[in-house]
Amino acid sequence: MLPAPASPAATDRRQHIVIIGGGFGGLTAALALRNVPVRVTLIDRRNYHLFQPLLYQVATAGLSPADIASPIRGILRRQRNTTVLLGKVTDIDVAGKAVLIAERRVTYDQLVIATGARHAYFNHDEWERFAPGLKKIDDATDIRGRILLAFERAENSSDDRERRRLLTFVIVGGGPTGVEMAGAIAELARRALSTDFRNIDPRAARVVLVESGSRVLAAFPETLSAAAKRALERLGVEVLLGTRVSRCGPEGVIIANDWIEADTIIWAAGVMASAAAKWLGAEQDHAGRVVVECDLTLNGHPEIFVIGDTALVKAADGKPLPGIAPVAKQQGAYVARVIAARVGHRPAPAPFRYRHFCTMATIGRKSAVADFGKLRLSGFIAWFLWGVVHVYFLVGFRNRVAVLMGWLWAYVTFERGARLITGHDL
Ligand SMILES: Cc1cc2nc3c(=O)[nH]c(=O)nc-3n(C[C@H](O)[C@H](O)[C@H](O)COP(=O)(O)OP(=O)(O)OC[C@H]3O[C@@H](n4cnc5c(N)ncnc54)[C@H](O)[C@@H]3O)c2cc1C
Repeated sequence: MLPAPASPAATDRRQHIVIIGGGFGGLTAALALRNVPVRVTLIDRRNYHLFQPLLYQVATAGLSPADIASPIRGILRRQRNTTVLLGKVTDIDVAGKAVLIAERRVTYDQLVIATGARHAYFNHDEWERFAPGLKKIDDATDIRGRILLAFERAENSSDDRERRRLLTFVIVGGGPTGVEMAGAIAELARRALSTDFRNIDPRAARVVLVESGSRVLAAFPETLSAAAKRALERLGVEVLLGTRVSRCGPEGVIIANDWIEADTIIWAAGVMASAAAKWLGAEQDHAGRVVVECDLTLNGHPEIFVIGDTALVKAADGKPLPGIAPVAKQQGAYVARVIAARVGHRPAPAPFRYRHFCTMATIGRKSAVADFGKLRLSGFIAWFLWGVVHVYFLVGFRNRVAVLMGWLWAYVTFERGARLITGHDL
């Protein structure tokens, strides 16, 4: 019998670069390798790249899921040196240089791990049921359903106390996601839903933002934190600072010994890196981030790179780089340069250095804060720039147009077009 013909991969002499994760870091690395003489395999457990910064708008019925997600296979369609694999990585055989997707082994010459992070409940995983976090599209549609269902149930209830509980929304964590969620829920209640019900007044909804630190948006300069707090309060959001949630349950939360009855609790406090450190048996910090060298490789394993939210990389001031998209993207581009230099037998690039341009967060209509270093903006101009930047960085022309049209429509009509309750049985 003739031997089976060798697969193209088996006869290909190019180095095999495996990238785990098609998020900001992994996708940037893959795209930057398009003209490098290597064979690339990008593995993701989802078939789409998700633009997480706009996830809160899906959760608050402003955008549809497809507006902020693009199929990875479609993005890389024209990149001939790249194969996309849908699969969940379960482990890495570091000695055997192979990635394990359940029973399947995918061997590599160089590996890039960009598996991101998930939300963390500070040893209270049992709270997740009552206080979902926002990380995936499924989380966003689940939260959207919870918020909209709360208004529907309040409309059907004849018990005043129960109505108040249904119309109370607690957001835990005053970082950008918490601030954006709180502002968007307040606007949903005060504007988009304000005249749609007959038995309740949605404008009476109580939105509470709880932050354990002394200010919201702690990564921003104090003046911008204060501006964001004022903007939230103008929208009617109660901002509780220096207080911790000590319990989450089906009836509400306990905050600093006070019981707040609430039907909807949203978790926006704290993240934990993916399981990469466990797969690698590598040194990690308290948030599970893998400690890497200055060229983003694992100590003793120059063939393994870890980037984005999964990696612990320190800035010049010794503080860890934040878990934000620009860090992941710059790291993705950097590892592609290192790989290109290696296969081209050129000297390695200088150690990775993050260049920070701007930090932004939006509070609501015509209201945002933006920190460009020396230039600090709040209000309409910051909000306008925030919109421009987010549309610009969205992946895919269709998504840019869809988001822009959705925003223009919402701006003119105050409507929220994606008010669908899905996945919640009554
Ligand atoms: C709600 C929210 C709002 C945010 N807002 C902003 C913002 O306004 N500005 C900003 O700069 N940053 C923001 N961020 C942070 C930013 O999204 C992250 O820093 C960035 O996504 C990190 O990129 P990454 O490549 O490390 O991971 P990700 O982009 O999260 O990508 C990880 C990828 O790995 C895949 N994956 C994970 N585990 C496996 C596995 N076992 N097998 C296969 N595939 C796997 C995932 O499916 C995913 O596609 C926000 C994050 C969230 C959650």
